[in-house]
Amino acid sequence: MDHSLLHSQFQGEILSAALVAEPEERRTDDLDLTRMAGHALHYLRGNPDPARDYECKFDLGPLGIPAHAPQSVPPNEYGYDPISLGDTDCRMMLQYARMRAMAGEDAPCAVELGVRQRVLGYLGDDGQAWINPAAWTGSPVEGYWVSKWAGGKIMTLLAHDFAGTGAAAARQRARKLFEGLKSLAHWDGPRAFYPGGGVPVKDGQVLIQGWGEHHSKNYPAVVEPCLEYGELCGDNEAVDFAIAMTEGFLADSQPGQDELRIDPDTGAFQGHVHLHTHALIGVARLGLLTGEQRYLDWAERAYEFVRRHGTDYGWYPEHIPQSQHGAETCVVGDMVGIGVWLAQRHPHVFDHVARTIYNYLRRTQFFVTDEFITLFECVHADQPGAVLQQALAELRKLEGGFVSAPAPDDWVKRDATLGATGRAHNGIDMMGCCPPEGMRGLWEAWRWTVQDLPGCVRVNLPFHRDHPSAIVTAGAPEQGWLQVQLRRDAEVQVRPPSWADRAGVTVLRNGQPAPVQWAGPEGAYVACPGMARGETLQVHWPVAAFVQRQTLLSVPGGEYDLTVQWEGNEVEAVDPCGKYLPLFEHR
Ligand SMILES: [Zn+2]
Repeated sequence: MDHSLLHSQFQGEILSAALVAEPEERRTDDLDLTRMAGHALHYLRGNPDPARDYECKFDLGPLGIPAHAPQSVPPNEYGYDPISLGDTDCRMMLQYARMRAMAGEDAPCAVELGVRQRVLGYLGDDGQAWINPAAWTGSPVEGYWVSKWAGGKIMTLLAHDFAGTGAAAARQRARKLFEGLKSLAHWDGPRAFYPGGGVPVKDGQVLIQGWGEHHSKNYPAVVEPCLEYGELCGDNEAVDFAIAMTEGFLADSQPGQDELRIDPDTGAFQGHVHLHTHALIGVARLGLLTGEQRYLDWAERAYEFVRRHGTDYGWYPEHIPQSQHGAETCVVGDMVGIGVWLAQRHPHVFDHVARTIYNYLRRTQFFVTDEFITLFECVHADQPGAVLQQALAELRKLEGGFVSAPAPDDWVKRDATLGATGRAHNGIDMMGCCPPEGMRGLWEAWRWTVQDLPGCVRVNLPFHRDHPSAIVTAGAPEQGWLQVQLRRDAEVQVRPPSWADRAGVTVLRNGQPAPVQWAGPEGAYVACPGMARGETLQVHWPVAAFVQRQTLLSVPGGEYDLTVQWEGNEVEAVDPCGKYLPLFEHR
């Protein structure tokens, strides 16, 4: 078969490809975002420690005993795991309501309320978020500093409180946080910037220490929180500030970014990826909101640069360049968060999102599997049975989280001392930042599967979804079909994958063949106008099984060729395969 369509959507080379035979029996997809969200809630409830006022855990290394061993910054007067303060907890706080919405749970549990209370407790008399900032230094710090990061996250929480309850007090507190964030900005004409990016500040001083030296060159993640607050609370000043910050990004207003500056022509930069990608989510969203193509172009180039240093199945590097091939699940969640906005302009980006869910997030969600137990018992063969059982019981509380830094085909990192105590080198890294950002990825896929538009129900992604406007039933990915049952009168638009040959696309309306018409952005959607509530539309597309070869680039001198066997958007196997706990099955 002709490889050109596959070539246009996948990196590297396509070595061979053939169409998958028509199935004898239709099978629905076994991937269920709702179920994954239910598992994620289990983690969100198992991580915080009620005995420590719902302090959250950052320094997690599941192959160690104990799995939770704060070594990066040892326990001190500010916290047992100081890196979690104002970082892990704030990230987790925003995911409870999202995972509950997906899993169909209305009421917050005691743990969620405890974490919420903790995080709101960071607000000082001046309305700003005051935290002990070890998360920004990776080393002990005395005292409390103003965190723009925590402030933006808490502002988002309060804006949602206002949107949900109409409580004026929540809006006032969010406004106060916004005023604080804006007051910290410096101005370059109409453009705003923060000297030292997102790094905490106090009395005009930026906390340049440890990790902060590097992070002070990252872009601050302030645009998205301002849009969230501005839209939900009807405050245009926040949208204007988001524009001013974004113009500052594009004009290099922030001094001293050096190698972390994003090259506007190529999207290239060097260094820590996640804080950049987190900041880019807001820029892409602002581009859609304002119609300003410069914002979309800038975000898209950097997004594509990160993609070129990763895989087509959602594994993206933690650093560019880096010393070993490790991903960061925070980056993965961010790339989904950027992708859903970019996909409004270029719908093929939804395939990146689908592939990330199928292949990365599904296979890095943490469970105490039989294979894990076998490895765990092997590396701890010298431990008494009771110690192992106790350790496994603690690990089960973390099920539903996400492994944070897997190798391209392994939960276990390459340069690990298997079973050593501590997060970074015990084999499986589960930094507390990452599980909630993986959850963000799940939530974005869930909420963008069905898109409600005036007179139109648009299906962007091939996932099961029980939506107020339509029920979507997804076929198994290698079968290439999807069914929509309408809950309101509307035109239906369904997006087949961008690599599918359009000549082979067919449509059944209420079981009867119907004409194939193309509509929507870039004509990427099969449209069926004039459908009524209760009607069904089935769309079928041809699926290719193929072999892709690409070179992983993020480790200079350590580049290697990765061969990936695909069926449609789903990975069947990769070579070289993982040594300990492979992501993909191997034949
Ligand atoms: Zn992370």
